[in-house]
Amino acid sequence: MSLRSTLRRVYDNSSISVQTRLRMIYGRIPDRLKLGKEFADYREELLRNERHTREELDAMQLAKLRKMIEHCREHVPFYKRLFDRIGLKPAHLRTVADLAHIPTLTREHLRDHFDELRALNASQFEPEQCASGGATGQPVKFLLDRKAIALEKACVNRHWLRSGYKDTEPCVNLRGLRLALKPGEYSVIDKGENCLYLSSYDLTPKTVEAYGKAFNDFQPALLDCYASSGALFASLVASSGLKIHSPRSIVCASETLYTHQRERIESVFKSKVWDWYGLTELVGNASECERHDGYHISMEQGYFEVLDESGRAVAPGEVGEIVATGLHNFSMPLLRYRTGDLAEFTAEVCPCGRGSRMIKSIRGRVFEFIETPSGVRLTATALNVHDNTWDNVIQFQYVQKQRNAVVLRVMKAETYTEADERRILNRMGTRFGYEIQLRIEYVTEIQKTPRGKTPLIVRELQ
Ligand SMILES: [Zn+2]
Repeated sequence: MSLRSTLRRVYDNSSISVQTRLRMIYGRIPDRLKLGKEFADYREELLRNERHTREELDAMQLAKLRKMIEHCREHVPFYKRLFDRIGLKPAHLRTVADLAHIPTLTREHLRDHFDELRALNASQFEPEQCASGGATGQPVKFLLDRKAIALEKACVNRHWLRSGYKDTEPCVNLRGLRLALKPGEYSVIDKGENCLYLSSYDLTPKTVEAYGKAFNDFQPALLDCYASSGALFASLVASSGLKIHSPRSIVCASETLYTHQRERIESVFKSKVWDWYGLTELVGNASECERHDGYHISMEQGYFEVLDESGRAVAPGEVGEIVATGLHNFSMPLLRYRTGDLAEFTAEVCPCGRGSRMIKSIRGRVFEFIETPSGVRLTATALNVHDNTWDNVIQFQYVQKQRNAVVLRVMKAETYTEADERRILNRMGTRFGYEIQLRIEYVTEIQKTPRGKTPLIVRELQ
């Protein structure tokens, strides 16, 4: 078992305050020991690939894909059986598009066929068992190779470097962590990682001053946050009139970043947001470059398709589900894995000079929508506004408990007046149409999921 898996096991079974202390200890272990010597090699390779053309990257990806398909055929019972059934031979894979002969894989497959999806030679990849939470709250478990984790870390590192961050500079982490050292303590400094951890669970109008002080004292070069936590922090800072340090860059990850959140974060911190799209299953990731007009897919780690509901590839400019094929995780390969994330497809090459394939935008989760009684689906994109609607609102969330009614939970800023309420009901009411009644419910806090996230739309239909 790798050092990481051993530590992970101890960590998962510890109390929150012990977890906080363990994280500090882990921070002091050199990367080489934590991630293996491959981390440095991957990092070098990834930085080299920044200068490669699309043709070169496509060829690299096809070679990786062929290797993965061979491996599945040889060592993974689930795929052995599937390839036999559909008559697929690795030699049939002439281009990446030929992957479409393989049926897509869902979270349910992963849940029901865990043992058959595990490679017979899995142990040689020193995997650790992980789990991802689903829409239904039911976590699904899977295996991740030690090297796949190192590659993911190298991809994250490349993203941070793109944003202007330099290794070992101070950073702040506001990403769904609970910290429980002493009552009234919301932050802790990890000297090993040169990182200030801020608890996402205690951020309120009452505590924001303490958060602001810790942040300003630490002078981070980079803020690493969930979109919802970053936007909440920004809103609370703005509404309390605090002066806040401007980090060189802000990285949002693990949640869909909505326009209103990006604008709020950038205007308060006076710094650019560099969004990152990743998947816990490590079947792919994508990240923004300095143009902030789309996401570069890390072609070393995964192959992305964007498919419509019937499973056909969408045309450029159209939105569909990201279906990802992991190229680097051999203990439990996932081919054509349905991610549940919506994205706009593009075939463009980014003018920034990087040749990697792109997705134009991330549009939220497939299940994140409000459905009208007549069956019209309103997604987060349909509810997106680009004006002053949310000016005096700290945070908000739509909750649908009935077919014909939606509750808009609103956390008000002190400057909020009746005029704000009228404006919100007017503008958003029109978006919902006559079939749905929109009602505002004022709250002092919007509840987070167990992983510290705050989805924009929650459906609790009976
Ligand atoms: Zn670019």
